[in-house]
Amino acid sequence: MRIGHGFDAHRLTKGRKLILGGVEIPYELGLVGHSDADVLVHALMDALLGALGAGDIGRHFPDTDEQYRGADSLKLLERVMELVRAKKMHLENADITVVCQQPKLAPHLATMQSNLAAVCGVSPEQINIKATTTEKMGYTGRGEGITAHAVVLLAEAV
Ligand code: MG
Repeated sequence: MRIGHGFDAHRLTKGRKLILGGVEIPYELGLVGHSDADVLVHALMDALLGALGAGDIGRHFPDTDEQYRGADSLKLLERVMELVRAKKMHLENADITVVCQQPKLAPHLATMQSNLAAVCGVSPEQINIKATTTEKMGYTGRGEGITAHAVVLLAEAV
């Protein structure tokens, strides 16, 4: 078995879509990034790459590369899962925490879980997504950005 951890943070701004776990969430602000800035999926990808000992998403999908401008992060996750399979591993489970003061994410968590499960080829119960605030403390608490933490466990494919 292999364990991996991922963390990511993106800034919120006007004029961008808010996409988390592949769900477009209605909100007045969205996350800034070269891709669609799906911070939740980025943390998950970094956790998967970490478990593989394969570096990080910056190495695999550089933000200087025009082909990743506005990229759908779920498509990038698909590419990371190909690396997992190439190493004869499968995702046993993922546990993801999104730190977000606003908007409320609870109504969207189930859809995010099924989006990620579909891409990872697992059942939604294997992808746990939690949302928390920081009770208005710090940059996430002030609504300046959203962060995400992820841990994954990979096991050898049987
Ligand atoms: Mg990112």
